[in-house]
Amino acid sequence: MSEPRAPKKLPYFLIAAACLLTGLFAGWTPIAARIDNYYYDWLLMLNKPEQPAQDALVLEIDDQTLVAYKGNRQLRRTLTRTLDAVAQAGPKAVAIDLILADEDDAETDRALAAAMGKVPKLVLSADIMRNAERWEEPIPPFAAQSKAIGHVHADLDQYDGVSRQVQLEKVADRKRRWAMALEAYRLALGGEQIVESQRDLHIGGKSLPFPQRGDRGRPMLIRYRWKPLPRLSVKTLLENPARGAELKDKVVFIGMTAQGHDRWVTPYSTSLGMPGVEIHANIYETLAARDFLFQASNISIVLACILLAIAPAVVFAFLGGWHAYAVAAIQILWAHSLPHAVFSSGIVFPILAPAACAWLSVVGCGSYQYFAVRKQLRHSEAGRSRYQQAIHFVSHEMKSPLTAIQGSSELISRYNLTDEKRKQIALMINSESKRLAKMIQTFLDVERLEEGQMELKREPFAADDTVIVCAERARPLADRKKIALEVGQLAPAEVLGDRELMEYAVYNLLSNAVKYSPSGTQVNVDMRYDAGQLRIAVSDQGIGMDEKEIKLIGKRFYRTRRAEQSGEAGTGIGLSIVGQIVQHHGGKMEVASAPGKGSCFTIVLPAKG
Ligand code: ADP
Repeated sequence: MSEPRAPKKLPYFLIAAACLLTGLFAGWTPIAARIDNYYYDWLLMLNKPEQPAQDALVLEIDDQTLVAYKGNRQLRRTLTRTLDAVAQAGPKAVAIDLILADEDDAETDRALAAAMGKVPKLVLSADIMRNAERWEEPIPPFAAQSKAIGHVHADLDQYDGVSRQVQLEKVADRKRRWAMALEAYRLALGGEQIVESQRDLHIGGKSLPFPQRGDRGRPMLIRYRWKPLPRLSVKTLLENPARGAELKDKVVFIGMTAQGHDRWVTPYSTSLGMPGVEIHANIYETLAARDFLFQASNISIVLACILLAIAPAVVFAFLGGWHAYAVAAIQILWAHSLPHAVFSSGIVFPILAPAACAWLSVVGCGSYQYFAVRKQLRHSEAGRSRYQQAIHFVSHEMKSPLTAIQGSSELISRYNLTDEKRKQIALMINSESKRLAKMIQTFLDVERLEEGQMELKREPFAADDTVIVCAERARPLADRKKIALEVGQLAPAEVLGDRELMEYAVYNLLSNAVKYSPSGTQVNVDMRYDAGQLRIAVSDQGIGMDEKEIKLIGKRFYRTRRAEQSGEAGTGIGLSIVGQIVQHHGGKMEVASAPGKGSCFTIVLPAKG
């Protein structure tokens, strides 16, 4: 009986590789991007920055300001008065989130420019005009009064429109601008120039590790404050100049918060969204608090995915039972908690690709193990029952020659027998032990063939020679039964395989034909070749078989009742070996037979003519 074979390990790794590719592919689809976004937002909720704002303040032009100061028409006058008040308060820097790109009446603009001149560190804003790659920027009199002009372009997520990051630099019309909040940060630090390299930015002694990313500028994830930033309404300031003290040493962001003006959805926002000016203040706070988050690099994501896909393969290849499932469950948990774990170190890791790789690989390798183990179990059960059957058969079949040998040897030793009788008994012992030896040999051949231990040679041989050799070997059997053995037409053909095994097969068919035919009949063998196919047919005029019996004869130990009644001592093994030999040669067996009319066994093989 065969030892249960250890399941192969390679398939696990192949499955893992396929899962890895699928997982990676899934991880880079738009749906995955959305899922990763939601997960990121959730992580932000779990890791809310609790500390209050450092020094940003939103000076808001809110609804009540617009109502009190005649709305948008008088906006520049309101702004002039506001800047006068702000200048007196002594802020660190002031950023105005209003695009002042066109001229109003000359006197209004002159007054506003003069008010701007009183603010020492002023940032004005520019934006890229929609549908035109051009900057919409402050008119020259205003620009002249400012220390910097920063961009206020919102970099909304392409899939869900949420504002999660800002491009610290933005180029349009071949002119590059830094983000308004970055300019405010620079001025608040003292106004030194920004020193840039491919990999980062330097302002004074501070470095901002944001590398250039092609046309995405230098993206920086915005770390929105959880507690609302301090706000002051322009109306409150103008009506109550003492409140100006709140602006001292603050970085003041002036902009619209009134209804009907642009608002963007943020990871924390309610349905109302957040006014742009407040987003800029949050960008400033992210820079000032150095509360940076970085997207994990593609290489690290791919490496994590490789690890997560391969690990289940290792687990299922080397562990079995509940151990494997328990470790696999831990791996899935690990894949899910990976983004959480690295988030606290400021790294944003996607969820979908690693989780998909882990899940697919665990399910793939787990199912493979489940089915492989079941198959193995079935295989070893089949092996065991086959073995029992064989033992049963051997002990049963060997009994009769053994009894005969035993009985005869006793006869010789106990009684005085005539020489002739003695010779007769000796011949009988000889033939019975030969039968026994043949039975054992056949039995071993079957076992070895089934276990794949019997090597199948692959060499070309002439099939017609094989048939002639077999016919000559079977001729004495036929002569003894007075059966005419006719070798018919033999088309020359070459078969690739094992000549000895093929001889075994053909001889078996011939000896069966002789065995199961009465005296005076004829056995024919011929060989035809047609279009790459060789047909070796052995036909007889013997006892034959019915349909049901034909279906069963290939099974080991099966003998038809007709064959048993014919008095021939068969083993029921020969045809099962023939079947296997033919199969090993890439061919098949065809049987045509009718009870009492004879049988025709045909071996069909691939061959060269
Ligand atoms: P064995 O001949 O030793 O019993 P085989 O496997 O060669 O074993 O054949 C299985 C059975 O198939 C035989 O017992 C017999 O019943 C049937 N059989 C095989 N060849 C023939 C034949 N030429 N004519 C009729 N029956 C056959």
